[in-house]
Parts: sequence; structure tokens; C-alpha cells
Amino acid sequence: MKKNKKRNKVLWLFEMAALCLALYLVVNARTDRTKPVVFEGAQGGLTSADSFTYLDPSATPTPDPNAVKWPKLTVEDLKEKRQYTIVNDDHLLSSAFKPDDTGKISGTNQLFDAEILPYLEAMLQDMRDHGYSPYIAGAYRSYSYQEKLFNGKASQIAMGMNPPVSDYMDERYQIAVAEARTIVMFPGSSEHQLGYAVDILDRQRTRLVYENMNKEFFAYLDSICAQYGFIKRYPTNKLLLTGWDEPYHYRYVGVEAATFIMEHGICYEEFYAHYDPEFTFGAYVKKS
Ligand SMILES: [Zn+2]
Repeated sequence: MKKNKKRNKVLWLFEMAALCLALYLVVNARTDRTKPVVFEGAQGGLTSADSFTYLDPSATPTPDPNAVKWPKLTVEDLKEKRQYTIVNDDHLLSSAFKPDDTGKISGTNQLFDAEILPYLEAMLQDMRDHGYSPYIAGAYRSYSYQEKLFNGKASQIAMGMNPPVSDYMDERYQIAVAEARTIVMFPGSSEHQLGYAVDILDRQRTRLVYENMNKEFFAYLDSICAQYGFIKRYPTNKLLLTGWDEPYHYRYVGVEAATFIMEHGICYEEFYAHYDPEFTFGAYVKKS
């Protein structure tokens, strides 16, 4: 009996060590070490508007609230108008949320919010008129679809463990969930559920690998997207704030906000934090 208890304790210690190692590896993998990143203020994860001092030499800093003219918006605007809805790991959409109405993006089987669709179509036409061939890799995704994607990834990781874990009640399954969370968006945290977000790639270069991406294509898209109300939602140099590095993901916020965000090179969390003093984020975007 005593021996058994001791064995359990050793096993427990071993599991904790494995958990720490897994978390370390996950955090490590998310940190781009090729860029000198100074992370202040947001250190430890949670950041609020009043303590905002994020510094990244490779990124555009958050503009001084007194030095630049921010769009005239109120917290109520941000909370009430769907185009401003903040969706991330700390602000999840409910499983019941779905767009009022969706329409098919022309030439694809992908759906988008019907009201915003004309702006997306106009932006895609602008790309074509300038010799580019945009390819829609993803648009509206339901909660249940995202859940399926996420659970698929988590169970794939769990089954790849040694020994494989198939029982999601197993403690080690949580390690797989934590890792899956860095690869596939957690259900409710994806903007694709809003119906306002779209993944756009160059049709000739659709592999989601950096070296393969057409820089010219994205430079052009970045230069015009705000005119149509879209922002680059997860710029590479804001990875430590958003938790995602997805240079091909664009999201509709309206022309006014988009113009300001793209001009100042900020991410949506920085924009939102300016208006909402209660706003905190980054619980999952932690540097250990
Ligand atoms: Zn996306």
C-alpha cells in the first residue's frame, strides 16, 4: 500500500514535469526569436488599456492617444456594432452566434456575411484589376465546424503522445488541448465565426508557408484593404499581442477604423484598448 502511494507520487511528479516541458515547448515555438522583441507592460500576459506599454522595435508602436486623432468612437459603439466585435482567446463568441445572413463569395463555395459581402467582392475585384489572382482559403466558419477542427487537432496530438492518449478524461489530454490551442483556434475565438473574416492567398501560392507567400501580393492588399473597410488582423510583428501570426487573414471593421489601424500599423487589440478602459487581453498570449 505504502509502496503504491510512493509510486503514485513519482508518477505525479513525472507528469507535472512532462506538463511543464510541453508548455515550455509550446510557448517557445510561438516566440519568434529572429526579431528582437522587447516586451514590457504586457509581461505576464494580461494587459489593460491604461498600462499599455508594448514595445517591439520591428513594429509600429501604439500611437500616443494625445498625439494622433483617433476615430471618434465610444465604448458603446465598439460593443453594439457588430463590425467592432472583438473576438480572441479572451473574448469568445457564444456557440449560438451566427451571422444574420450569409452570401456566397463569387467563384467559391465560401460564405461571408451578406451585408459586408459587397465590400469584400469590391476588394477582390481591385486585386484582379491589378493583375493578382486572389484565392479564398477560408471565410465563414460555424462554431461547430471550428469545434470539429479543434477537437480533431487535439486528439491527433494526444494520439501522437507516448503512450498515446485516447481518453479525454486523461490528465495528459489537457497537454494536447493546450498545444492544439496554439495551432487551431479554440471554438468561439475565431473571427471566422463572425462572418467578417477571410483568409486570402495568391492562387498560385497557396501553401501556408512563409517562404512560399507572395510578398508583393500582400503588400498590395495591405495598401488597399482599408479603403474597403478591412484590416490585416494578425500582423507578424504583433504576434505577442494577438497570439497569432496569420498575415493572410483580413477582417472587416469599417473604413474609418480600418484606415486608422492600417495607417498606424497597430493590431485590433491595441485599437480596442484605446476606447475600453476595462479591456484586458492576452491571457493566453503569455511569455513564461
Ligand atoms: Zn483566418
